[in-house]
Amino acid sequence: MIHAGMDVARINTSHGRLEDHLETQDRIRGIAADIGKPIGILADLPGPKVRTAPFPKGGVHLGDGEHITLTAGNNKSTAEVIEVDYETLVLDMRPGDKLAFGDGQVVATIDGKTADALTARVNFGGLLQGRKGLHIPSDRLRVTAPTETDLRYLDAFVEHNVDMVALSFARSAHDIRRLGVEPAPRGPLVVAKIETRAAVENLEGIIDAAGAVMVARGDLGAECPIEEIPHLQKQIISECIAQGRPAITATQMLESMISSPTPTRAEASDVANAVFDGSSAVMLSGETAVGVDPVNTVHIMARICERADAEFDYDQWAERITEIRAAARLDVHPTDRTADAITHAAWEVSRQLDAAAIICLSNTGYTVRSIARFRPGTAILGFSPDERTVKQLSLSWGVEPIHQPDRATSYEMVQDALHSARDAHALRSGDAVVVVSGHSTATRATDTLRVMTIP
Ligand code: PEP
Repeated sequence: MIHAGMDVARINTSHGRLEDHLETQDRIRGIAADIGKPIGILADLPGPKVRTAPFPKGGVHLGDGEHITLTAGNNKSTAEVIEVDYETLVLDMRPGDKLAFGDGQVVATIDGKTADALTARVNFGGLLQGRKGLHIPSDRLRVTAPTETDLRYLDAFVEHNVDMVALSFARSAHDIRRLGVEPAPRGPLVVAKIETRAAVENLEGIIDAAGAVMVARGDLGAECPIEEIPHLQKQIISECIAQGRPAITATQMLESMISSPTPTRAEASDVANAVFDGSSAVMLSGETAVGVDPVNTVHIMARICERADAEFDYDQWAERITEIRAAARLDVHPTDRTADAITHAAWEVSRQLDAAAIICLSNTGYTVRSIARFRPGTAILGFSPDERTVKQLSLSWGVEPIHQPDRATSYEMVQDALHSARDAHALRSGDAVVVVSGHSTATRATDTLRVMTIP
């Protein structure tokens, strides 16, 4: 999958055991090191995800209009009685509430309630198998993210130096802060999954508190009217990118490839449109977790993205980001305002000079992400002495993340980067490049923009 184009591996911790997830992380690390490509690892915390007890082998089929009973439990589910691993299920739910199984493969509406069970009518039937996720409207859930399990998993992943963690079912900036991790790159980059109505309402604060955002269309589509999803996707992505936060578009992107060698035409268009919306990354789930040919799926997704990128109207995008930035400028911290102005200038200068690359020296990756949001039509080489920053940059659009050892002076760092760009990264002697860096390794603040020539 790495050879086919995968940049980041998400470990979905909703399934399986923590020990196995940590072992998976070690295996990915080992393979990435052998290949010599910085692959970011994203540990996706389960959050208050509710699941059914397992259905019998082969699953059960629920027909439209059938009646089902739901109780709290974790033993077994049948076509008639579905057990749900949520203790206060009966207490929290009311007649009229909608229940979506999986990513909405089966939908039912609650129509009755006793002391220990709910009855529901199946609106849209289908096959249920394994331990199916059950979407309960987030304003009904009394458990909030991060859960105790999330925090336990987080500790273990932080011990294992994970690059990024995703918080499922975040509702506010406060939920993100409750993770209590150190700011990236000392701590993992925190990805806020936008999949509740509350998160959409608190989007600005969440983006500000998080390092990146995921448009988690599976649960979001169960929580909000389906016709809202394309518009929410556009809104979430553009707000993220304007603030220099990578945005991941996720779920059902090439869903049919779970069992088929080619995607539907609609899926191919969806991936390309996610690129046109400004996604920094597009994500596969079931396609690579349980699909018939994960490598082929990644390969096809990468081809669709590359083709869409070739059509992308970079200049128009940068103008839009410039406008959004100008409107938001007053709230920005003074150091960030300098980085903001310099990265904007770097994009403009690289365009006017038709530079061969923008070379960015960054400790935390902030400045590189800031440049990437303008979608410059030239390569972005993101150099950092911090190994974790390099892996975290694998999530950013158009960036080639490169590890470069620290040196005593900024001058030496820039010279090293210019030589490395020539020797290992396809630039040629005499190429004009735009270099963005800090003038001092002591302050580490981005304050310098230079036009230089590859030696
Ligand atoms: C989603 O709901 O779209 C999503 C990505 O979350 P998960 O796959 O963890 O349910």
